[in-house]
Amino acid sequence: MQVLHTIAQVREARLAFPRLGLVPTMGFLHAGHLSLVERAQRECGAAAVTIFVNPTQFSPSEDLDRYPRDMPRDLRLLGQAGVDFVFTPQAMEIYPPGFDTSIDVGGVARVLEGAVRPVHFAGVATVVAKLFNIVQPTRAYFGQKDAQQCVVIRRLVRDLDIPVEIVIGETVREDDGLALSSRNSYLTPEQRAAATVLYRALCVARDEFAAGERDGDRLRAIMTTALLTEPSGQIDYVSVAHPDTLAELGAIAGEALASMAVRFGPTRLIDNLILRP
Ligand code: AMP
Repeated sequence: MQVLHTIAQVREARLAFPRLGLVPTMGFLHAGHLSLVERAQRECGAAAVTIFVNPTQFSPSEDLDRYPRDMPRDLRLLGQAGVDFVFTPQAMEIYPPGFDTSIDVGGVARVLEGAVRPVHFAGVATVVAKLFNIVQPTRAYFGQKDAQQCVVIRRLVRDLDIPVEIVIGETVREDDGLALSSRNSYLTPEQRAAATVLYRALCVARDEFAAGERDGDRLRAIMTTALLTEPSGQIDYVSVAHPDTLAELGAIAGEALASMAVRFGPTRLIDNLILRP
């Protein structure tokens, strides 16, 4: 496995692969990341992973400085997985002096996570566009865990005619339902136990939907009630939205994206399920 630090090295390495799957990450890898890597290898015959804690998607009050990092472990896991190359640039390589471009993908970036984290999706869209231009993958793999990020990336690729196929992988969960996340490492044992309430609330919504409930307000209320059984969690939002536009739904005609953000102390967790008829 090649470990590359510069754009020039990536451009040269890329030439060896007719098809390449890219998995962009911020590192501190877990089985969710690795499931995307396996799929990229299976579908493209070769896989590249980027590990870059992108400063522009964090606001000043967020956890950029304490975001968990373990590069030796990440590289060991990716080597064992048989990844072809890893790109781990310094921030200066991605954002040299004078860098001043930012991509605004519009409405889908302003609701939900975007309402709480105003600079987040411009940072994500800009760095992903750069990584696509640097690596030039055939396909790029993202996790359903970050549902709004998937919507934003699809919008970006469609609106800017970026020739990369976007593939979304299922959310990988712990046995008790908690979605794997690098940020789970922040949780105290008590918070970790309480955090299972997100998935429980989503499952209640899924069951009600399966039983015929199609009223967005009622589904949001049902999830809120379920979340409130765990008083240590502070609800940022509970949403039942259109899966493509992210507009909050009243009467639900087709599929809906049920999602939520809940804070446990300083740690903010998100999760979602697509409600399918
Ligand atoms: P991150 O390192 O958190 O930026 O995540 C990198 C990629 O892995 C993103 O596309 C995430 O959506 C995806 N990912 C994170 N957690 C999970 C999970 N539990 N299951 C599947 N994919 C995930």
